[in-house]
Amino acid sequence: MTRFSEDNLSCPGCGHEQPFTHYDSVNVSLDPELKEKLLSRELTTFCCSKCGETAEVVGPMLFHDMNQQFMIWLLPGDDPVPEDPFLSGPMSVFTDSLMRRRVRSFNELIEKISIFDDGLDDRVTELSKLLIRLQEPSFQEGELLYDGLHESDEETTVQFAHLVNEESQGLSVPWASLSLAGERLLDSLSQGEEDQTGWVEIDREWAASVFAEVTSDE
Ligand SMILES: [Zn+2]
Repeated sequence: MTRFSEDNLSCPGCGHEQPFTHYDSVNVSLDPELKEKLLSRELTTFCCSKCGETAEVVGPMLFHDMNQQFMIWLLPGDDPVPEDPFLSGPMSVFTDSLMRRRVRSFNELIEKISIFDDGLDDRVTELSKLLIRLQEPSFQEGELLYDGLHESDEETTVQFAHLVNEESQGLSVPWASLSLAGERLLDSLSQGEEDQTGWVEIDREWAASVFAEVTSDE
């Protein structure tokens, strides 16, 4: 379900106070119109009615896509995953089988949604980013975010956005060989070491630990 709360916020530009709606939980299957507003950052942008100043307001948010069977919990910082009464008790019958991810930033939330919307495995995508960083050390700095697939007659390329110091640069890489290399790394992980239950974090650290694990076996 979709849940929200309202709060008075002061404009960082002029100090004017106005209500702002925080979306604590967004169910895009029940409220599809919210997805577009989320992806365009409208849901997380405060816009002052007096001076026009805008500011990003990001708090904990549970993203739920029932059609594609996944949930992503955006919890900024190091907060532990809270108990959610809607996800335990009788309701857990419906949520236990869903793929669950935890992310720490709004960029990561949008990235995960795009990856799942494009029918990709976020583990393979994350390992692919690690391989790009290994090949091109200048990508070690900043963030590398999935930004969609581009299909043409010749080949499919994957787009990434490289964010460094608030600047974004696009990067386009042939997807077939990269995803194959990512899948091979994932396959080398021994069964059982890969815990896919609960609120799993598939991020840069996860990819680094998989790589360390796989290369230490060789
Ligand atoms: Zn203002």
